[in-house]
Amino acid sequence: MFKALVLNRAEDKSTQAAVTEADEADLPEGDVTVAVSHSTLNYKDGLAITGKGPVVRSWPMIPGIDFAGTVTESRHADFKAGDAVVLNGWGLGETRWGGLGARARVSGDWLVPLPSAFSAAQAMAIGTAGYTAALSVLELERQGLTPDTGPVLVTGATGGVGGVAIILLANKGFEVVAMTGNTAEADYLKGLGAADVMDRAEYANPAKPLGKERWAGAVDAVGSVTLANVLSQMKYFSPVAACGLAGGMDLPSSVAPFILRGVKLCGIESVYMPKPARLAAYDLMAQHLDPAKLDAMTETIGLSDAIPAAGRLMKGQVRGRVVVEIEG
Ligand code: NAP
Repeated sequence: MFKALVLNRAEDKSTQAAVTEADEADLPEGDVTVAVSHSTLNYKDGLAITGKGPVVRSWPMIPGIDFAGTVTESRHADFKAGDAVVLNGWGLGETRWGGLGARARVSGDWLVPLPSAFSAAQAMAIGTAGYTAALSVLELERQGLTPDTGPVLVTGATGGVGGVAIILLANKGFEVVAMTGNTAEADYLKGLGAADVMDRAEYANPAKPLGKERWAGAVDAVGSVTLANVLSQMKYFSPVAACGLAGGMDLPSSVAPFILRGVKLCGIESVYMPKPARLAAYDLMAQHLDPAKLDAMTETIGLSDAIPAAGRLMKGQVRGRVVVEIEG
């Protein structure tokens, strides 16, 4: 038996979450078994644990889309007992048991060796949120964004994706403007590297087809009206990495930014991203993610605190990232 946060579905279809024991015999198929030391709470985990979004596809479920830990058994050629590993995505915590438990069994094809630049706790401070921010930055650069092309906007700035995107972009020499609904956090955002802070309320009204040219690039974790306003104020031929929906899944925009300014809307999907891109994202973070800044945006909790923390995350009361320590 091992300790885990387990989600069950009640008769009224509500989600029941409890920290309890799970049976190792019930772990899913896989060629690598891992003793999980750390996991984390991403937005998607908050949706799953609180039942606020249809994330969980089979029951009972151990949530947690990320984990870091040590291999205990392996039939996979790339991994042996004792190896430190990280996993992001691949349906964990959605379709198969995830990281918020002391044991996990997965395909070795999904694992990444723990980068030497980071501890297991720091890898979970990064988590899917940070790794998605890194994928977004890589995509913007692939589209030609360079520091001399102008300011880069990051929305959802006090969140996990936003915070890591700010740190990475600022460290690479970009002028970063952080958009937030919580301007009281301006000092925190400037501490991460933002040159300026902008109130989310500025982008709360329906977007015009085109506005003044403002941004050379953008990382958007919010979607909806916010993203529509971002698109309308992009410079000619500039890229936007759309990676989130914290403000809604809709996109009330027009084709004007695309056909009149050549704006490029680049979708970022982290869950099933092939391994080479994952390794590139971790390389970028090893070079440009200052661990002290990562620590400044991270709080650490125990597994027993994960349920209330998920509630806080859904109410927008968490700044940055939450690492969950998993006791054996
Ligand atoms: P998070 O830590 O909860 O941060 C989300 C941030 O969005 C909040 O801190 C808040 O920032 C802003 N926000 C919250 N509610 C909002 C609202 N109603 N309207 C506008 N802004 C709002 O979440 P995260 O882990 O950074 O994830 C951010 C988004 O990216 C989520 O939608 C998540 O599902 C998505 N995501 C996607 C992928 C992928 O593969 N594409 C991977 C990871 C995450 P401010 O108060 O500073 O504005």
